[in-house]
Amino acid sequence: MEDCIFCKMVKGEIPCRKVYEDTGFLAFLDINPQAPVHVLVIPKKHVARLSETGDRELLGSLLSIASAIAERENISGKGYRIVINTGREAGQTVDHIHLHLLGGRKMNWPPG
Ligand code: 5GP
Ligand code: ZN
Repeated sequence: MEDCIFCKMVKGEIPCRKVYEDTGFLAFLDINPQAPVHVLVIPKKHVARLSETGDRELLGSLLSIASAIAERENISGKGYRIVINTGREAGQTVDHIHLHLLGGRKMNWPPG
């Protein structure tokens, strides 16, 4: 999608610090990290938000890629948080589905 910043990252038009890439997915460091480890995992295909897809393979891949990155970043043992903000009220600011992987510090509950 033309005006989507995450699609531009997929195309290499905007730089990002990649931590994982395969034919269908990309993971990179969040520009404004909220934890010592803050990685965004996205499908290369543009999907605006969670509520706009029923693609189980795509959704499962987001989770398994995040889990593998958590292992590699050594945050699996202590624990980490996965977040998918969906829609404005939940705080979604980029309309290209993305999974936040957050870890490396104690998390609070409930989230704000
Ligand atoms: P949301 O609020 O939509 O759930 O998350 C969007 C995330 O994208 C935010 O955490 C924000 O910091 C991150 N972000 C926005 N623009 C950029 C960018 O240009 N580069 C990177 N690496 N992250 C971005
Ligand atoms: Zn996009």
